[in-house]
Amino acid sequence: MKNIVILSGAGISAESGIQTFRDTDGLWENHSIKDVATPAGWRKDRTLVLEFYNQRRRQLKDVKPNKAHELVKALEAFYNVQIITQNIDDLHERAGSTNVLHLHGELNKSRSANNAKLIYSQDGDINIGDKAEDDAQLRPHIVWFGEDVPLMSEAEKIVKEADILIVIGTSMQVYPAAGLVREISAECTLVVINPNDTDFDFNGRAVHIKENATKGMTYLYNELATK
Ligand code: NAD
Repeated sequence: MKNIVILSGAGISAESGIQTFRDTDGLWENHSIKDVATPAGWRKDRTLVLEFYNQRRRQLKDVKPNKAHELVKALEAFYNVQIITQNIDDLHERAGSTNVLHLHGELNKSRSANNAKLIYSQDGDINIGDKAEDDAQLRPHIVWFGEDVPLMSEAEKIVKEADILIVIGTSMQVYPAAGLVREISAECTLVVINPNDTDFDFNGRAVHIKENATKGMTYLYNELATK
């Protein structure tokens, strides 16, 4: 079987009702990124940061995977499919996808504020005073801007082996994630699904399906499923 690698971003979950962030003037659900997605924001106001991600986590209970997530799963009948997602939601898993690597962490996990290796599953809210086993405050298991991306080298290996790389719903502005596209082999086919253009230079290699995720994936699935 050929290898399909999916690089997904916030746009794949937009039609499930989860807001993206570049589309709303650089604000994430009305908050500035520096307040809710940086170590400095955490140092400044832990309560605000915890509440922000608590709300995002609660929202997961009200949303469902959409057809794009489902068709990515359906490709597993024909290909080895590996997903590298920048998303912190769990919609790929809930669509049934087998191999999902969360480059920027997961809402449904927490970790010690002092030790990135002490990671826990997290169902409900994280509150001030909730502690990890090292007695440090729990924080969301999210890679914030300015922090290392621990799964980056694993993601690079996956992308190098791709026969087809499908980039769905990402503005390609967040690094190092966007740089993964540079790791594809000379033989790899590169497809981008995004209703908008991005500033990213795909070196003329990308076939751009200029549609939203559900329509774009429906078209692409019909092309790929029979081959
Ligand atoms: P982004 O918000 O920067 O860009 C979203 C992209 O999706 C844009 O290029 C936009 O044109 C496109 N888009 C909008 N609607 C679409 C649709 N219906 N179908 C397909 N594409 C659509 O997202 P990003 O590049 O993923 O970077 C944002 C960062 O913020 C990520 O690191 C992510 O962790 C975080 N984030 C995550 C979520 C989530 O987990 N669902 C939501 C918002 C932000």
